[in-house]
Amino acid sequence: MSGILIVAEHTRGVLADSSADLIGAALAIKEKLGGPLRVLVAGDMPRFFAGALNRPGVDEILLAETGSANFDAAASEAATMAAAARCEPALILVGHSASGVSFAAALAVRLGSGFAADVFGLDVTGTGLRATRSGYANKVNVELDFPGKSVVVLTIRGSTFKAPDGRGEAVVTTLPLALYGIAGRYRHLGFTEAPSSDIDIGKAEFILAIGRGIQDEKNVPRFTALAEKLGATLGCSRPVADSGWLPKPHQVGLTGKVAGNCKLYLALGISGAVQHQHGMKHVETIIAVNTDANAPIYNIATSGCVLDVFDFAAALERAAG
Ligand SMILES: Cc1cc2nc3c(=O)[nH]c(=O)nc-3n(C[C@H](O)[C@H](O)[C@H](O)COP(=O)(O)OP(=O)(O)OC[C@H]3O[C@@H](n4cnc5c(N)ncnc54)[C@H](O)[C@@H]3O)c2cc1C
Repeated sequence: MSGILIVAEHTRGVLADSSADLIGAALAIKEKLGGPLRVLVAGDMPRFFAGALNRPGVDEILLAETGSANFDAAASEAATMAAAARCEPALILVGHSASGVSFAAALAVRLGSGFAADVFGLDVTGTGLRATRSGYANKVNVELDFPGKSVVVLTIRGSTFKAPDGRGEAVVTTLPLALYGIAGRYRHLGFTEAPSSDIDIGKAEFILAIGRGIQDEKNVPRFTALAEKLGATLGCSRPVADSGWLPKPHQVGLTGKVAGNCKLYLALGISGAVQHQHGMKHVETIIAVNTDANAPIYNIATSGCVLDVFDFAAALERAAG
């Protein structure tokens, strides 16, 4: 068993960003782990995605014709099993998305492999592969080794790793697959678009996030204008999204988005619950503003300011002109 197999993901003809994230994750340990990096793409026209997946460091792209334009967990599992049987990888990476988690664990059971979900750190130590994920509602980071496992399946948290830009020199191979009785086990009833939004918390480098401390919906436009003035993306805590003050795509945290690319996070009137921290505690520079000096956000903040958010906003507005 050697090398890495990635399972790319796409929806309605568009390659998911997680596919590039997976390539980035694999490249972080490819040299240490050894062996080739292969990318599997399954669907009704997998060749369509081969160009976009051909990134530097990818050695082979495997195409699996499943005959289904829509995601099919059973067909994805069967295609990955077929690719694993052909390539015998030491590591299989799947996106930690609704699609990925619907077949990754079953795949691990069928392979008798090691398994971990929502992984955001990878390394190869003297004893082999090591994966990092969070535990106890994000209170601790857990490092996992997989002793005695010749293959490991991991689902990888989105926006955590970055793939290099540019074009690679991958060989493209079509896998012979017999999916009779497998593809079509699931019936696709329809597709519901998530509410559209022009913001992407996962890609933002500077986030100004507001919490319940802003007191009222009528204060949201003031912070929206401030974020715009500063060139920040507006994020929020869950109560702000749940109350309908801002649309759900603005929410940072466990049931929101992970601020994967963020370098500067300004947390205004946010207490810093573990579920919120899940989406932002990794950020390099966190500045917290909260009237409660004992708020948990101060445990992870780089700098803190025990101050009323409205006084802080007024000072920033003056400074920004
Ligand atoms: C399964 C589950 C999933 C969850 N997922 C998420 C998630 O994805 N994202 C998320 O954010 N939460 C999530 N939560 C909710 C989370 O537990 C907290 O309830 C939430 O993060 C609190 O939001 P908040 O900090 O805005 O509000 P609060 O906890 O009410 O904090 C408001 C803060 O504002 C401060 N404040 C008040 N007035 C002012 C002022 N004038 N100036 C300055 N500071 C002021 C207060 O001191 C307080 O610390 C989840 C919970 C569960 C159970």
